[in-house]
Amino acid sequence: SPRHENDPEPGRVRVTIRVRPRNVEELSDADYADCVEVQPELKKLKLRKNNWNSEFYKFDEVFAESASQKRIYETVAKPVVESVLNGYNGTVMAYGQTGTGKTYTLGRLGKDDVSERGIMVRALEDIIVNTTPTSDSVEMSFLQLYMESIQDLLAPEKINIPIVEDAKTGEVSVPGATVVKIQDLDHFLQLLQIGEANRLAANTKLNTESSRSHAILMVNIRKSVKNDEETGSSFQENDSKTDRHGNQIPIVRKSKLLIVDLAGSERIDKSGSEGRLLEEAKFINLSLTSLGKCINALAENSPHIPTRDSKLTRLLRDSFGGSARTSLIITIGPSSRHYPETTSTIMFGQRAM
Ligand code: ADP
Ligand code: MG
Repeated sequence: SPRHENDPEPGRVRVTIRVRPRNVEELSDADYADCVEVQPELKKLKLRKNNWNSEFYKFDEVFAESASQKRIYETVAKPVVESVLNGYNGTVMAYGQTGTGKTYTLGRLGKDDVSERGIMVRALEDIIVNTTPTSDSVEMSFLQLYMESIQDLLAPEKINIPIVEDAKTGEVSVPGATVVKIQDLDHFLQLLQIGEANRLAANTKLNTESSRSHAILMVNIRKSVKNDEETGSSFQENDSKTDRHGNQIPIVRKSKLLIVDLAGSERIDKSGSEGRLLEEAKFINLSLTSLGKCINALAENSPHIPTRDSKLTRLLRDSFGGSARTSLIITIGPSSRHYPETTSTIMFGQRAM
């Protein structure tokens, strides 16, 4: 099977952690105390339970509060984007408690200040620059996964959209969702904004928090490559080199990038909830737990990645493991008030190491 040129460990999930700066509330809290201390040079993070008790955790990269969006993109996502441009599938995911910066990291539009742009915008910027509008195509769908149902964020009346798996190639797609061909970066920014607004509206209508759902940006790239270029992906529309007149036929190489803003990692207390809230809690716990199991299996080089247990992992099936590159960014807040959630969030990330 094909290997990445600069990737000694294809298939392994790269895990980074980002601590967000103190927010206004934390800055004005007289009893505020930090529970994390980052050591970026050592790629370590120290988590303090109290004055006598602390634990060190190692990650592929550790980002302090001051880390810029640009640096985060370059470390966390750019290698995945480059690999996708070379014909492989890839996934970038953010996992963390609600309010710790998942959407800031991934979805920030940066309309007033381009330095604030998040991973989605920077990734598309790189993809647009490295594709040719006349011969290549870049298409996107934007989905929300809530209680095991997929909703189209570009056409929110479409709900319960099925996931389709090609029996031969294993390719996963969501053909019922709106697919838009991206013209340029402004067009993409518009689509992203529409999707975010629809996400907010849909959740207001259902009286839920967007933190209860996963948001998934799916970008499909078709790139024409010359015969002598290396073709990485296994998904090729045709692989004959010349037609019957001896003319070169360009090979179309397909690849897919998923950027996933996961539901809040805080475990919802099932004991106190009932009705839909209880159902919601079960579904979120199910998808994040099954994601954890898959990440664990990848870390252990297991031949079997249990992707069948939830829609989230079924969607990710052809975009992680194998020749696909996966990057997971863990987001945490600095305050000791959230020590329990921060600990469990960190433990999730450690399962992939
Ligand atoms: P989540 O999506 O995990 O619930 P958000 O991305 O909405 O969290 O972030 C919560 C708040 O914190 C937002 O107001 C966001 O702008 C702010 N924030 C998060 N991360 C950072 C950061 N690294 N720098 C500055 N502000 C941040
Ligand atoms: Mg969010």
